[in-house]
Amino acid sequence: MHRRDFLKIFGLTLMVSANSACREESQGYTATSNKKRILVIGAGLSGLAAAQELNRWGHEVIVVEARERIGGRIWTSTQWADMPLDFGATWIHGPQGNPLTDLAEQINAKRFTTSYENSATYNTSGKPLSKAEEVRMEDLREQVFTALKKAQGRDNDASIRQVIKPLIDRFNESSETYRFINFILSGAIEQEYSGSVEQLSVHWYDSAKTFDGDDVLFAQGFKVIPEFLAQGLQIELGQVVKEIQWQRSPIRVITQKAEFIADYVVVTLPLGVLQTKKVHFSPELPRSKQNAIAKLGMGVLNYPC
Ligand SMILES: Cc1cc2nc3c(=O)[nH]c(=O)nc-3n(C[C@H](O)[C@H](O)[C@H](O)COP(=O)(O)OP(=O)(O)OC[C@H]3O[C@@H](n4cnc5c(N)ncnc54)[C@H](O)[C@@H]3O)c2cc1C
Repeated sequence: MHRRDFLKIFGLTLMVSANSACREESQGYTATSNKKRILVIGAGLSGLAAAQELNRWGHEVIVVEARERIGGRIWTSTQWADMPLDFGATWIHGPQGNPLTDLAEQINAKRFTTSYENSATYNTSGKPLSKAEEVRMEDLREQVFTALKKAQGRDNDASIRQVIKPLIDRFNESSETYRFINFILSGAIEQEYSGSVEQLSVHWYDSAKTFDGDDVLFAQGFKVIPEFLAQGLQIELGQVVKEIQWQRSPIRVITQKAEFIADYVVVTLPLGVLQTKKVHFSPELPRSKQNAIAKLGMGVLNYPC
C-alpha cells in the first residue's frame, strides 16, 4: 500500500548552461562575477528546492511558474477552514531519513501518522466489507502479489495484467472475486504507481528507493513545505514557458508574455510535460540526451555554446 518513490521529485531536473567564454551582452545584462543569473522553471518542490539552494549560494535566482500559484503537484485546498485537504501529494512516505522530514522539522510542522490498518473498504452497495469479505480480499491480495513476485524472478518481462491473467481468468467477470482482484490492481498498483496495469512492467513497477517508517501527513496540508521553500525567492507566476534558446549566451527563456535571460536554466518540468514537446528547446536537445531523460526521468545537461 505504501508508495515510496517520492524522491523522484528531486530527480527530474535538467540543467542547461552556456559557457562563459562565449558570453555576450544582452539587454544590458552581463555576468561579470561568480554570481550567476539562474532561471528555475517550475515552482513545484523540485524547482523551489533548487532555487532555495542556489539562492543560498548567492546567485541571482528567478523562478518562472506557469500557474498562478506555487506548489505544482502539491496543492492544498483551504476551502474548509478547519480541514485543509490535499488534492495532490499528501504523505511523507517513509519519514525516517527522508529529506521532507528535515524540512517539516525546520518549520515544526504538525504531522499525523497514518494507520492503514484502520481504513475501511466499502463495496459497491455503499456498505463496509464484512469480516468474511475482508478475509477474502486479503487472501486475493496475497495471491496477486505472490504471482507478481514470482514473475519478477523470470527472465522475460511482462505487464502486470499479463501476469495476473491466469489468476483472474478463473473467475466470471460478474463475480465478486473478479471485482475484488480488479480493485486490488487499481487501488494498490495503478493508483500507487501512476500507470495502467496493461503497461506497467512487472520487473520494474516497484523498483523505487524507499524510506522506513509509517507514512505521515500534515495537519495544515502539504502546502506548508512549498510555502517554506518559497520564502525569500523571486517567483514569477503565470509565466508559461514556450521556448528555451539554450545554445547561445545568455540563454533566453520565452514565455507567453515575457522573455527572460540567464546564464543557467534549471528545468524542473515533469517528464509528461517534456514529452508533449510544448516547451520547445531551440535547437532541439540531442537524441542521446532525450533518450537518457526518457529512460531515467532525469538528466543534467551542460552545453558549451
Ligand atoms: C494526486 C497525487 C498524489 C501524490 N501523492 C504524493 C504523496 O502522498 N507523497 C509524495 O511524496 N508525493 C506524492 N505525489 C508526487 C508529488 O506530488 C510529486 O512527486 C512532486 O510534487 C513533484 O514535484 P516537482 O517539482 O518535481 O513537479 P511539479 O510539482 O509538477 O512541478 C512542476 C511545475 O512546473 C510548472 N510548469 C509546467 N509546465 C510549465 C511551463 N511550460 N512553464 C512554466 N512552468 C511550468 C507546473 O505548473 C508545476 O508547478 C503525488 C502526486 C499526485 C499527482
